[in-house]
Amino acid sequence: MKKCIKRQRRLAAARKSRLAHIQETRKSLSAKPLELRTGTTQVVIYRSELDYLSRCILDRPDIETGGQLFGHWTDSGIPVVLYAIGPGPKANHQKTFFNQDVDYLVTVGRELKRRYGLHHIGEWHSHHQLGLAWPSVHDARTMNSTIREKDLGEFILCIGNCDASSAKVKAFLCDGIGCDQTPWEVIRTDSPVRPVIDRDLAGILIHPETSAASLGGDRDGSLRPAYAPGYWMLREGSGQILNGILAFLKERNPDNVVRPSLNERGEVRIDIIHSKDKREVITFPVGFPEKCPSFISIYKDLTTTPDYADAIWDNGSEDILSSFKTFYKNL
Ligand SMILES: [Zn+2]
Repeated sequence: MKKCIKRQRRLAAARKSRLAHIQETRKSLSAKPLELRTGTTQVVIYRSELDYLSRCILDRPDIETGGQLFGHWTDSGIPVVLYAIGPGPKANHQKTFFNQDVDYLVTVGRELKRRYGLHHIGEWHSHHQLGLAWPSVHDARTMNSTIREKDLGEFILCIGNCDASSAKVKAFLCDGIGCDQTPWEVIRTDSPVRPVIDRDLAGILIHPETSAASLGGDRDGSLRPAYAPGYWMLREGSGQILNGILAFLKERNPDNVVRPSLNERGEVRIDIIHSKDKREVITFPVGFPEKCPSFISIYKDLTTTPDYADAIWDNGSEDILSSFKTFYKNL
């Protein structure tokens, strides 16, 4: 048995004032339609645009590259990517970061909005062969603080990976608090605006040199889970345990979205999304089940705030699901 004391109740007072602040924030947000977007379950993209991203990524298989996604949000809050752009001529490509050519983005973005009514709805960049198929901590922090600053609601962040011959792209939806992996809904045809825009804006657009698109994996651009080496999910029967944990959390949180994902360290993370202002995050660290799960609350106005958790984690138990239930009930 082990006590998982992260923070003590000395945080209770701070928490109380935070909640009052959140209630205020919630009131001020309630008039906006952004609430509709909570729990978006997919990112719609035309096949031609995923192909375009793969060509840009394969242009630079050893260095970061990137660009922007344009399209619109449907009434029910689903993003639809109609047109993607790659790096401009003055973009800064480095091994571990990428900065778009701002003049290029502004010029192209203005024309896409003015002529075709397309909105800037996302960003993408490649982690090429770095072995990181998720937004880095820096990526997620930068994106979420921009979303909060500019009151964007939600924004797409795509991360590409490649080997020498094919590329993969994963979509994440960031909401100012966190970034969740979100499945693609691929429309298996060319975007209707791709040929029109390519022709009309031929004088300003820069296209990739790689001419053949090559999307690896299951051709949906998604990657199989890549758990950390020796991770508990690689053991037999662990999938069932995780399903049991998810079912239990859904039962305990009937009004909230419960969303599992993998973090950048290859650990399972479960987000319980209460509203646009708060989510709880449970992470099963490398070393679980000997190590206890971590539990934090994240608030929109205060970024990440560790919460107290003085629950007992029974690390000697054979029954991980029962241990987890006890742990969660005592939080
Ligand atoms: Zn990155």
